[in-house]
Amino acid sequence: MPDPFIDLHTHSSVSDGTERPADLVRAASSAGLDALALTDHDTTAGWDEAIATARTLPMTLLPGLELSTRIGYRSVHVLGYLVDPTHPGLVAETQRIREGRVDRAMRMVERIARDHPVSWQDVIAQASPGATIGRPHIADALVAAGLEADRSAAFRGILHPAAGYYEPHEAPSPLAGVELIRAAGGVPVIAHPAASTRGIVLDERALEDLVEAGLGGLEVDHRENLTHGKRVLLDWADRYGLFVTGSSDYHGTGKPNRLGEHRTAERAFRTIVASATGSEPVVGDGSRLTV
Ligand code: AMP
Ligand code: FE
Ligand code: FE
Ligand code: ZN
Repeated sequence: MPDPFIDLHTHSSVSDGTERPADLVRAASSAGLDALALTDHDTTAGWDEAIATARTLPMTLLPGLELSTRIGYRSVHVLGYLVDPTHPGLVAETQRIREGRVDRAMRMVERIARDHPVSWQDVIAQASPGATIGRPHIADALVAAGLEADRSAAFRGILHPAAGYYEPHEAPSPLAGVELIRAAGGVPVIAHPAASTRGIVLDERALEDLVEAGLGGLEVDHRENLTHGKRVLLDWADRYGLFVTGSSDYHGTGKPNRLGEHRTAERAFRTIVASATGSEPVVGDGSRLTV
């Protein structure tokens, strides 16, 4: 039997992806994936729809989220798999982050609007009701207004920190994020840790604290991780006993990333399932990847 085909990082329209959770799950099954994780930014609101769809398909779903954390201006994303979505601390903290994202997006739009014809209403029109608001929705409003060609152009242009409109949003420290995901019974993995040209998002000292707090793994195979950084990450994984993952970070038509463009080995998948206590993977009808 060939190795199972596993992609553990994707977004739906519940955050900044462009497809509804049900459509995302169907697309993953059509693409031949045996396992998929839904990891919307700071929300588990897409879980029910994704779970209901996955049950009917020959695939396994790991419900998760991508928690926003930061150190100063540097944002650090922490994937959390199989958390308990009703954990009071997690519910409160994700709500606080989502609200902080709205405040920050409003402030950014206010400043952009001084120089470009775009309004907060234009941004809201680009997001599904209740979605976690992010710069991608501002990007879509800029595209709709004819000010940028597409999301990627907007991130290189008006939304780039160098353009002067950027600001960070409220978010806990990576350490608090890892602790919270573990407290909610989930398994924390640092997303795209080597995606910055300034190097890896954390130094080794900070990593040691995260390992102490229960960090499970590092997302190494990701299109934005730089080659040198990946070598350091593999070395760290080896030294600190962390598993490594590979994933697409699919956002539908919002990013060039294609489903399954990077994969996670079955062994890492099984480590996640074995160490999570917050919720269960969903094994759909006829899935090759039983747990
Ligand atoms: P925010 O968290 O609001 O600062 O926005 C960052 C999000 O924008 C990330 O989650 C990415 O998925 C998305 N993003 C970053 N760069 C790009 C890009 N070039 N094209 C489309 N989406 C992007
Ligand atoms: Fe995103
Ligand atoms: Fe991310
Ligand atoms: Zn992501």
